Amino acid sequence: MRTPLIAGNWKMNGSAELVEEFGRAFTGTTLPAPLDVVILPPFPYLDAARRAFDGTSLRLGAQTLNPLHSGARTGEVSGRMLKEFGVEFALAGHSERRQLYREDDAAVHDRLLAALNADITPILCVGETLEERDAGKTMEVVLRQVGYVMARLEPDQRTRVIIAYEPVWAIGTGRTATPKQAQEVMAAIREYQAGFDRELAAGLRLLYGGSMNAGNAAELLAQPDIDGGLVGGASLKADDFLAICQSAG
Ligand code: 13P
Repeated sequence: MRTPLIAGNWKMNGSAELVEEFGRAFTGTTLPAPLDVVILPPFPYLDAARRAFDGTSLRLGAQTLNPLHSGARTGEVSGRMLKEFGVEFALAGHSERRQLYREDDAAVHDRLLAALNADITPILCVGETLEERDAGKTMEVVLRQVGYVMARLEPDQRTRVIIAYEPVWAIGTGRTATPKQAQEVMAAIREYQAGFDRELAAGLRLLYGGSMNAGNAAELLAQPDIDGGLVGGASLKADDFLAICQSAG
């Protein structure tokens, strides 16, 4: 019922050559069906990626966007611009944006709304730090992050949101949440959504992120509330990323 989704967040990594490599690796490749596969390259590579991925199953995503359509916002990129380059998905609230660029829940909401308004599917990223987990605050933090945004959306907007649970302590550390840990939090997110609308909760696509790789993806993706992955480091090698996609069948 829920189409699995594997997304590769390249962060500030990659190159024009890597874009070409992915285009080649996914040409003529058979993937499990149904499955959505998305690459989120840095902005300068979007145009090349659109051309290189043409005819493959790879779709395009953006790592962030500005809440405005246009204006005096040096260094920023709007949803309308991204849409012109074929972008279909955008992250809002990645922990690196929250921590390094001080994006609070309100800023995350503004960005997510900008994606919806540009007809781009938002992927809301949530997750607790190690300190918060150790203090027993995981659910409180994660459900606050989800709730802040969801409570401010119209019902029809809520149905378009994808949520990625990325425990901060598992990002880029090689330390993956166990399938049980991930499942526990993700089931709680779905249950929380059921409070708004049971049908919406049943259709909500939930991704796990945090050191997902070709070795651990299958076990994580087999959990009942995990519908896909948001992959960082392992999305920088076409073979590894392809292997993760293959395990989403
Ligand atoms: P890693 O897969 O490198 O841990 O990164 C996860 C992530 O932050 C994806 O958005």
